[in-house]
Amino acid sequence: MSAISNAFEKMLLKSAQAVSFFNYPSSFEKLEIDDNHSVWASYTPDYQPGPPLKENITADLAIIGGGFTGTSTAYHFSRRYPEKRVVLLEAKSLANGASGRNGGMMLNWIYGTPTNVSDDIVQKIYKTTSDAMDMIEGIIEEHNLEVDYRRDGSLHVLTKHKNAEEAHAEVEQLNKLGIPLQYLDRASLRGEIELDGVIGATLDPTAGEINGAQLVRGLRPVLVEQGVEIYEQTPVTKIIEGREIELTTPHGTVRAKAIVLATNGYTGKLGYFRKALFPLHSHVFATAPLSVDEQKSIGWHTTSGYSDDVNRISYSSLTPDGRIVFGGGSNQSYAYLYNNRTAFPGTPDGARRGFEQMRQTMSDYNPRTTHLPVTHRWTGTLGISLRRNCSMGVRGEYRNIYYSIGYNGHGVTLANLSGKILTDIYSGDDEYWRDLPLYETEFTPIPMEPFRWIGYQTFTHVFGRSPRVE
Ligand SMILES: Cc1cc2nc3c(=O)[nH]c(=O)nc-3n(C[C@H](O)[C@H](O)[C@H](O)COP(=O)(O)OP(=O)(O)OC[C@H]3O[C@@H](n4cnc5c(N)ncnc54)[C@H](O)[C@@H]3O)c2cc1C
Repeated sequence: MSAISNAFEKMLLKSAQAVSFFNYPSSFEKLEIDDNHSVWASYTPDYQPGPPLKENITADLAIIGGGFTGTSTAYHFSRRYPEKRVVLLEAKSLANGASGRNGGMMLNWIYGTPTNVSDDIVQKIYKTTSDAMDMIEGIIEEHNLEVDYRRDGSLHVLTKHKNAEEAHAEVEQLNKLGIPLQYLDRASLRGEIELDGVIGATLDPTAGEINGAQLVRGLRPVLVEQGVEIYEQTPVTKIIEGREIELTTPHGTVRAKAIVLATNGYTGKLGYFRKALFPLHSHVFATAPLSVDEQKSIGWHTTSGYSDDVNRISYSSLTPDGRIVFGGGSNQSYAYLYNNRTAFPGTPDGARRGFEQMRQTMSDYNPRTTHLPVTHRWTGTLGISLRRNCSMGVRGEYRNIYYSIGYNGHGVTLANLSGKILTDIYSGDDEYWRDLPLYETEFTPIPMEPFRWIGYQTFTHVFGRSPRVE
């Protein structure tokens, strides 16, 4: 049976490659690049993953996954409950997942929020996420972490007149609720960044940019100081539920009173939320550093970054030393692999056409970037849900399986907040969060394989976007 299923997987992967080969030209400039390592991780050059778990231990709380969700939960929980034994198990190294591989944009939860919520909730969502960014800043400052971040705003650029008109009207509406978004017409936008084919933009002045790898890895000594035991290179391979939950890893077990699924796009592989999320591979690259004069000469003036209004969203940010980070921007730059796979085969070479297409998209926005050398390119796993909702809560017969997943590419702020929310849910002190459309929200089920893979490929190739339901 498994031989048949393996053969089927191979056939599907081949046909996926054939589809992308058919659609895109094969010319590609072979670059000297740092293969599949994110540029953000390159700013933590001395980081070495800690040792794995090699014994059988017990814990009050075992956190699976060492990204924003895992480290944020370890941080808030161990501060609230210093007497409890907290263990964090990470399959590879802290920030191995999306938290160390993203576009770097630290955003409010404005785009993709449910449309059917009241004005009060819209206000509360904005306050929640901008407070969360303040909290992230506060943690960096309190612990003197070496983390590059900026909070001078982020742009959402608009490429169609209709979208621009709607965005302008929405900004006016949000301003009436006290939300300080601004609409920039093309002329004002050019003071921030010069992009072709763009009609205007919204500017969220409280958003910004952050190096997630530095944040997550920088928190390691802080967590250890707070008593958290961190085991890296320790994949959890089996979970047996019960009043006490048993976690199996290659060289040891953990018996825990409660666990946290802090595995976002990887969660389906643990057997949870398999119908809830698509693990979607988003591709990103980074250029060599540009001096301030070079940045100006290509028209990148003051903004920390932008995303666009196209279905296969492009996102771009600028590192403190002047590298342009660019992600998304084509069908090929978002890939779903058969059966919840979370590593792109042959990455990044297997993703070659995705990267080609992305460079083209960046050049279309700004022809002056066409010949910039690329030094890094990588992929990362997003957790995408059909309704683009995330969900934070607790489940299981014994109500001891905590989870926070499904950030849909907007997790930099939300996943860093999740540890506070999960700690509040654990303590029963969670009234404040209950009316937010992230509190134990239901996921719309996604069909199982092979219908999921076939459906995804068909839909994206016909409509040029990811499946979504409202
Ligand atoms: C390419 C890309 C660009 C993005 N850009 C942005 C952006 O600009 N702005 C934004 O807000 N959001 C962005 N996101 C989304 C954001 O990065 C994520 O929502 C967020 O990092 C999720 O954090 P997490 O800790 O929940 O998951 P992850 O960071 O994915 O961490 C999960 C961890 O679990 C580990 N793990 C998995 N399985 C196991 C196991 N069995 N045992 C132990 N450990 C395990 C993994 O190794 C990983 O380290 C982007 C994501 C990607 C991939």
